[in-house]
Amino acid sequence: MPIRKLQTKQVWCSICKEQYRDNNPLHRTPAIWAVVSETADKAGRTRYYCQPHANEAQTWVDGTIWTFRQQLDYAKGKEAIDGMEFGQL
Ligand SMILES: [Zn+2]
Repeated sequence: MPIRKLQTKQVWCSICKEQYRDNNPLHRTPAIWAVVSETADKAGRTRYYCQPHANEAQTWVDGTIWTFRQQLDYAKGKEAIDGMEFGQL
C-alpha cells in the first residue's frame, strides 16, 4: 500500500522536521499519513505527513487539489485524462 493512515503516533511529520529546528516543539509533530514513493529514482522512500502538511502537499499554489493517489498514479504513468484511463486512447 503506497498510502497508509498511521495508527500509532510514533512517527514525526517529515515536513515539520525539515521546517522547524530541534528546539521547537513543532519539530516533533506526529504524522498521520505515510506515503511511499513509487517513482524510479525514489522508489520505496517514505514521507510522513501531519494533516496540515498532507493538505498542503495535495494542493497546488492555484488551489487545485492533486491527491496523493493521483500523484502516485501520475508517477506510475497511470493518470486519467478527462476521466479516461491512460492507455485507452
Ligand atoms: Zn507537518
